[in-house]
Amino acid sequence: MNTIPAVTTDELIARYDALLLDAYGVLVNKEGALPGAKELISKLNRLGKPYYLVSNTAGHLPENAAARYRAFGLDLVHERILTAGLLIKPYFEAKGYQGLRCAVMGPEDSFHYVKDAGARPASPFEDFDLVLIGDQVGFPFLDGVDAVLSRLIAKLDRGETVPLILPNPDLIYPKSSGFGITSGMVALMIETALRQRFPEREDVAFVRLGKPEPGLFVEAVRRLGTHNVVMIGDQVETDIRGSAGAGLDSALVVGGVSGTTLAGGIMPTYRLESLF
Ligand SMILES: [Mg+2]
Repeated sequence: MNTIPAVTTDELIARYDALLLDAYGVLVNKEGALPGAKELISKLNRLGKPYYLVSNTAGHLPENAAARYRAFGLDLVHERILTAGLLIKPYFEAKGYQGLRCAVMGPEDSFHYVKDAGARPASPFEDFDLVLIGDQVGFPFLDGVDAVLSRLIAKLDRGETVPLILPNPDLIYPKSSGFGITSGMVALMIETALRQRFPEREDVAFVRLGKPEPGLFVEAVRRLGTHNVVMIGDQVETDIRGSAGAGLDSALVVGGVSGTTLAGGIMPTYRLESLF
């Protein structure tokens, strides 16, 4: 880790046309803004520097995410927020899922994303044609997972194909008391159970939409009109791997979820000791 060059946010602002910022673990945790986050956003606003907050959430609409971040003291508007939830609509359109019943594991905003994508959102306890994990909260967790898993197994036993969609592949997130599990972990539980029962079937896995998949990076670059962009993130597996895959530079915030061991040959362009 120490062989990776250190950088400051001022140097990144000078070197790049635009910044992409992860939310959890970079700007905020569950309880509030992280050190330097308010100052960084204010500086970007003051300079008129283009930036996007690039979040894997599908549990909050951009409007509600912005309101939450503003309550934490960050001067953010929803137009600056790209969420993995926004990828649901183009994905459903590409796959022709409009009009289908989609079991949604997640809060109300996850239902809004699915409805906006043209599908019919259903609770985990209703019949479905496809399954989407929007978040790890907002539904009765164990009963909801059990209900979806039971119906899924019954459908797969009948030879049906059920698309499984995971906008947010994150496994854990930081909170002040330590860490919490995220929707990617819920998907792993269901996939592990399905693999045990259907070891021969290769279609019983969730399609991941958010980081490290390219969708959010591609959309950010399209909106910004430049590839001279750096991603500031705290997770090697999503932020750093994803930006490398999209051909973008990255800065890893030290002390985040990933620790300091880099696996799989994934290297950030820089390490960032603080946002100041
Ligand atoms: Mg993060």
